[in-house]
Amino acid sequence: MNIEVQLTDAPIAGQISPPASVGAHGAFVEFRGIVRAEENGQPIAALEYEAYLEMTLREIRRLLESLVERHPCLAARVIHRVGVVPAGEAAVYVGVISLHRAEAIALLGEFLDRLKQDVPIWKRRALPVAGAPNLKSELPASRPRAAMHSLDEAMAEIRSRCQPLPAVRAPLAETSGRVLRETICAREDLPPFDRSARDGYAILSTETREVFQVVDTLHAADWKPRSLQSGEAVRVATGTALPCGDLRVVMQEHVVRDGDRVRVLKQERASNIRLRGEDVKAGQPLVQAGVRLNAGALALLATAGCAQPLVSPRPRVAHFTTGDELVPPHQSPGPGQIRDCNSSLIRGLLQNIPCDLEQKHLPEDFETAWRQLDRGHLAQADLILVSGGASVGDKDFTRPLLERLGFEIIFAQVNVRPGKPLIFGVHGARVAFGLPGNPLSHFVCFHSAVALALARMAGESAPAFLRAPLAAKLNDEPCPRETLWPARLDWNAGAPRLRPLVWASSGDLACLPTANALIRVPANQGSMSQGAEVDFLPAPGMIFP
Ligand code: AMP
Ligand code: MG
Repeated sequence: MNIEVQLTDAPIAGQISPPASVGAHGAFVEFRGIVRAEENGQPIAALEYEAYLEMTLREIRRLLESLVERHPCLAARVIHRVGVVPAGEAAVYVGVISLHRAEAIALLGEFLDRLKQDVPIWKRRALPVAGAPNLKSELPASRPRAAMHSLDEAMAEIRSRCQPLPAVRAPLAETSGRVLRETICAREDLPPFDRSARDGYAILSTETREVFQVVDTLHAADWKPRSLQSGEAVRVATGTALPCGDLRVVMQEHVVRDGDRVRVLKQERASNIRLRGEDVKAGQPLVQAGVRLNAGALALLATAGCAQPLVSPRPRVAHFTTGDELVPPHQSPGPGQIRDCNSSLIRGLLQNIPCDLEQKHLPEDFETAWRQLDRGHLAQADLILVSGGASVGDKDFTRPLLERLGFEIIFAQVNVRPGKPLIFGVHGARVAFGLPGNPLSHFVCFHSAVALALARMAGESAPAFLRAPLAAKLNDEPCPRETLWPARLDWNAGAPRLRPLVWASSGDLACLPTANALIRVPANQGSMSQGAEVDFLPAPGMIFP
């Protein structure tokens, strides 16, 4: 098929000649998409379109080539306007030539459906009619693609769009740090039988005498029900199942033994018995669904005989670094080169979160990078992270890459410092982030966005901001963006407090070894005094390990 694609900021002509085609044809189908004078019920003067030019041309071509396999047509011409398109004028023109009308109509219909979805052109904003009241310049439909999200909006999007991954049963030994997806109840009483709490001698609880005949010896593993007469004692160990009811245990330390007799030197009040069910009754909940399994929870599940709990799966995470200036840490950088630190940062940050991580470097040329992707394998990844290339530089291809992989971009900028060019995309249950390459931005975006997504995917209630006082003054100039300021959370005489750390720019990672929290500095705030109560985001595992 002959394909002609054009992006233009000039009006689309009223008459357009059919695209060149070889051979006889019986149908020439044309479509013009006209900007309506209304958007979301409000009158508008124009729509502004934005596109990644190179990428858009390529994607339109690719789309047509894939459609023609099913709808054999001879030629197609697509013209899309970018920039401001006044209401009443065409934003898009498509002309298709085929042998019969059915193929051309089918191809045209499907192309228009997929254009919105697959091609990086979007409505950036609606321009209000002069004097129209309160028209929001951001369009809900186009907002995900273009508008800058506030931090709260971005976090709300992540919370609502990231769903728990399907739960799996796993051997208990492999579930540390994973989220329990079922409430585990005790199958039996704990302890399951009356046990001695001491090494000593079991006697009837009513005894007042001093000397006893030792009639039996029971170890911790012995199970030997029997009755006891007054004056009889049974030697027991800590944990021994008691041979009958109505007993008490005299501690070994409080008797003297002489052959098969014992003399009690000190009468105790305590029975020294752990009664059946005194910790937990059968049927009582032990660990609730949604809890991240720590060592204590694992111990309780083990005690309760839950050897294959239903838990969150280990998400598969694919992490790509981009940037031709990067060399691995063991290499000496040449002029203009720097060492890759984000791979280590991401690997380290994910160490505390059960997941299966694969890392790869991608070259900065988009098509070369695209060819190097094992897309079949990548389709298995639950979470894709791309470091760098998230902004608007000539070679920044993260967004088009994610779009070509089929991700819907929910936002591409967050009104926060550092870490503004953060991209968030979803593709079914799969999630992707484009993380701005500067390491401090990486750190911030990880804690405010990636950790949140992983928590939601694990089925955990998402981390939220906490409050604590500042241990020292936070020195800052007022900034129109909110700031997530690196800080050290520690304890002063048992009370938590936050020490703001020094950072020069989003490229400055000198504070990262100390940082374990991010202070939320409101927009236009400037400095904050020592003792001020502030919101902060803890590093995962910081507060509730
Ligand atoms: P980018 O987001 O690609 O524009 O990158 C922003 C800055 O972060 C540039 O100075 C990059 O050199 C730097 N950068 C990007 N990726 C890495 C990385 N993996 N390690 C260290 N610095 C990086
Ligand atoms: Mg880069």
